[in-house]
Amino acid sequence: MVPKKGKVEAHRICVCVRKRPLNNKEVTKNDIDVVSIPGNGTLLLHEPKQKVDLTKYLDNQVFHFDYSFDESSTNDLVYRFTAKPLVQTIFDGGMATCFAYGQTGSGKTHTMGGDFSGKSQNSANGIYAMAAQDVFSLLKQRRYSSLDLCPYVTFFEIYNSKVFDLLNKKAKLRVLEDEKQQVQVVGLQEMYISCAEDVIKMIEMGSACRTSGQTSANANSSRSHAVLQVILRRRNQVHGKFSLVDLAGNERGIDVRSSDRQTLVETAEINRSLLALKECIRSLGMDSHHIPFRMSKLTQVLRDSFIGENSRTCMIAMVSPGMSSCDSTVNTLRYADRVK
Ligand code: ADP
Ligand code: MG
Repeated sequence: MVPKKGKVEAHRICVCVRKRPLNNKEVTKNDIDVVSIPGNGTLLLHEPKQKVDLTKYLDNQVFHFDYSFDESSTNDLVYRFTAKPLVQTIFDGGMATCFAYGQTGSGKTHTMGGDFSGKSQNSANGIYAMAAQDVFSLLKQRRYSSLDLCPYVTFFEIYNSKVFDLLNKKAKLRVLEDEKQQVQVVGLQEMYISCAEDVIKMIEMGSACRTSGQTSANANSSRSHAVLQVILRRRNQVHGKFSLVDLAGNERGIDVRSSDRQTLVETAEINRSLLALKECIRSLGMDSHHIPFRMSKLTQVLRDSFIGENSRTCMIAMVSPGMSSCDSTVNTLRYADRVK
C-alpha cells in the first residue's frame, strides 16, 4: 500500500488485509503467489500461469478494504493505520479493540508481537508494544495528566470456551454476568504498568505461559484466542479499555474423518466463536441494540467492546500468499468482507 502522510482517523469499524511474504518452505515446494495488492485498499486473487481455476473458489477476485498491506509492509506501517488511531479512543473514555484474524501461519502473532519460544518474533516491534508506547506518551500529555489515569494490563487466553490467566500461571477463570449484563472474569490479574517495557515483560511472561504447562491448550497455541488488554482506570473505575486479540487460526480443510475428537471439538468451538465475533462486529456497525455477545465466550468477555457510542474496532485479516493456502485465504477474505 502507499502510506499517506498525516494523522489517520479512527473508523468505527476498520477492516484491513495484510499479506505476508512467501516463506522458505513454500518456495521450496514451488508454491505460487496468488495474492497481489495492486492499490491502497484492494486485494486481488489472481490466476497463476499454471492452469488453476480460481473460479471454483470465487466469482469475484477483487476485494476492497479500508487498507491493504503488501508483503513489504512493516509492522510499524500496519500499526500506524490500524491500532494507533484507536489509542486516542481509550483516553476519550471509549472501548477500542483490534483483532488479528487469519489461518495459522498467516502472520497474526508476528503482527501483534506475541513472543513465542522457537520463533524469531520480537515483541518489542509488534502492535502490542507499539500501542503500549503510545498509551504512555499520551499519559504524559498535559491534557491527560490531570485526569489521574492509571494504566493496567491483563493477558488471557480463551481455549474451548475456557478462560486461562496468562499472567497467573494459567489459572482457569470463571466468567460471570450480573443482572445488568456486566461481564466479569473472576480473579483475572490486572497488573499495574509504569512503562511500555513493563508491558513487553508481561507479553513475554504470558506468551511463555501460553506455550508451556499442563493443559491441552498448550499443545497448539494457535487453537486459542489470546487477549491482551490495556485498561485505563480513573479513581478505580474503568475509563477506557484497549483489547488486542490474537485470534485462533481459522483454517479450512480439517479432515473430519482423520481428525481426533479433540481437534473436532476445538474446531467447532473456534468456528462458533468467530461466527459470534462477526455477528457482534456487524451489530456494532449497524448500531443495533441487540448484540449477540452470549453466542461465545470470546464475545461475552469482550462485550464492552461492542457497546457504547465510543467503541471502535479494527480487524486485520492476515493472508498467506500461496496457492496451497487458497481455501483458507478465500475464507478469510469473505469473512473480512462481511465484517466491514
Ligand atoms: P500465526 O500467528 O498467524 O499462526 P505467525 O505470526 O506465527 O502466524 O507467522 C508464521 C511465520 O511467518 C513466523 O515465522 C513469522 O515470523 C512469519 N511471518 C509472518 N508474517 C510475516 C511478515 N509480514 N513478514 C515476514 N515474516 C512473517
Ligand atoms: Mg500465532
